[in-house]
Amino acid sequence: MKRESRPSIVPGKQHTFTGLAVGRGIAIGTVYRHDSRYDVYVREVRIPENRINREQDRFAVAARKADQEIDALQVKAQKLPAAAREELGYLLDAYQQMLKGSRLIRGVEKRIATDRINAEAAVLKEINLMEDAFAAMDDRYLSARIDDIREVGNRLVRSLGSKQAAAFSSLPHKAVIVSDELSPADTALLDPKQVAGLATVLGGVESHTAIMARSLALPAVVAAAELTSWAANGDTIIVDGGKGTVILNPAKSVLLDYRKRRANYLRGRRALDKLRAVPAVTQDGIAITLQANIELPSEIDSVLRSGATGIGLLRSEFLFMNRDDLPGEDEQFTALREVVKRMEGRPVTIRTLDIGADKLSDALGFEPGPNPALGLRAIRFSLSRRKTLMEQLAAILRAGAFGPVRILLPMVCTIEEVKEVRRILNRLAGRLKRRGVKIADPMPPLGIMIEIPGAALAADALAVEADFFAIGTNDLTQYTLAIDRTDETVAHLYNPLHPGVLRLIQFSADAAAAAGIPVSVCGEMAGDERLTPLLLGLGIAELSMAAGSIPRVKKRVRGLNLSAIAGRARRVISDANPERINTFISDLDIA
Ligand code: PEP
Ligand code: MG
Repeated sequence: MKRESRPSIVPGKQHTFTGLAVGRGIAIGTVYRHDSRYDVYVREVRIPENRINREQDRFAVAARKADQEIDALQVKAQKLPAAAREELGYLLDAYQQMLKGSRLIRGVEKRIATDRINAEAAVLKEINLMEDAFAAMDDRYLSARIDDIREVGNRLVRSLGSKQAAAFSSLPHKAVIVSDELSPADTALLDPKQVAGLATVLGGVESHTAIMARSLALPAVVAAAELTSWAANGDTIIVDGGKGTVILNPAKSVLLDYRKRRANYLRGRRALDKLRAVPAVTQDGIAITLQANIELPSEIDSVLRSGATGIGLLRSEFLFMNRDDLPGEDEQFTALREVVKRMEGRPVTIRTLDIGADKLSDALGFEPGPNPALGLRAIRFSLSRRKTLMEQLAAILRAGAFGPVRILLPMVCTIEEVKEVRRILNRLAGRLKRRGVKIADPMPPLGIMIEIPGAALAADALAVEADFFAIGTNDLTQYTLAIDRTDETVAHLYNPLHPGVLRLIQFSADAAAAAGIPVSVCGEMAGDERLTPLLLGLGIAELSMAAGSIPRVKKRVRGLNLSAIAGRARRVISDANPERINTFISDLDIA
């Protein structure tokens, strides 16, 4: 319907959509429409021989349940107007046929026995096989039936009682994920080896989805209005994550031009990779610490490749996503120990759960309050769930026996929060030692995120209790300017260069210097090399960012003369004139 109403867009013809650039690079690939209502994620589990019959019975029950659900839909369909009733009736009949003794059902039963896998995984395998077979027939009618097969498969998985989550289990080659919205948990499931890039209709530049895309080094554009009204599975698509544009069904000449641009971009990146081993030292000899932010243990390879001298922020909440159960102390310990060991003596800063707002975990049974950004989240949530907090702290203490770790608390607002965690930590350490468990020795430094304006303004007082500061400019900007970082409608107002934000950074950096504690910036500003002179000029000598940004920032650091810019940076902030701040940045811009 919508297609006819916009004559300016012709289906199948080139059209450019403009959005916000959130992940650099250029992706050229095939549209894969993601809709979390229709995708399921399942884990494959091997089953012992003596469980095969039981698993097949479980599957039979699930197929019956799915069939009954469709019976109920048939009843509802009767109330629809005649044309719709007929249309839906055909569809539901087809679903029911597929659920009774069909090739699909027989295939799953057989696969449970032959592959010795759980029913959910067997369903997905069969569906994927059928999809491939249909796609190979190159017939428009049959291609359209793929959606029906997937729908039936998803119904079966749901009936098996598996929790639904986004899945990217059957992606085309060089898939570009196109979606109205992608949650950070969904993004965490993307495998950069399979996915070329992503483009969404909703989302802000500093949303956690955007951060995840950068961490995975995926070219990405968000806030591309109307994209999902036009993009269809199989369309060719270009995502220009530097410019913030998405080109659907590009003309041949455009495609060729973008292939060249992509090759240039990749060449530039390879050149930067050569900086991996050189130190991050300014022209006047000041050493700057460049560390990596990670969300998933699987990112360690790219961290090691980037030349990061440590992990400045491990967002532990991703260990709690896309699962039905909570990771216990042992599971967390094993994951963290792996990270610590692989970093081979470089420090690893582990942040305790920062759950809430756009980062949600079903396993925690987290119920967002009326205003999730201001509610029971992050450290407030952890302090209300002592058992979960203690398990996490114990896992960190134990991982600390394998290399240097630091503990970082998110969204700290009061001194009491830090004191309370330190009390818990000391008690836990005593208990573990008495049990003969090996833990970090000496105790890991306990630091705090500065991301609430009130915390920044009280930074001098907080510095008495905290062992280090990590300034989270993403939330600091959100809360200082009252701009939801995930909301594309106010994204144009989201500005970490607002004098209010910069003054809070400066105040926090000064408070840390006066107290003699380390201070870093680990928000997305840290990975933007245009802003490196400003942050260094404000007294920040530690930056933590997506691993892929480290070489660019290092190149910038190595070209700077800090003594020449420090005074100017501070003067620019003190007169708080946004124009002058921008001039200061563009004067020094190398791009
Ligand atoms: C921040 O707020 O700047 C930060 C680093 O934390 P997160 O992006 O995970 O909220
Ligand atoms: Mg934050």
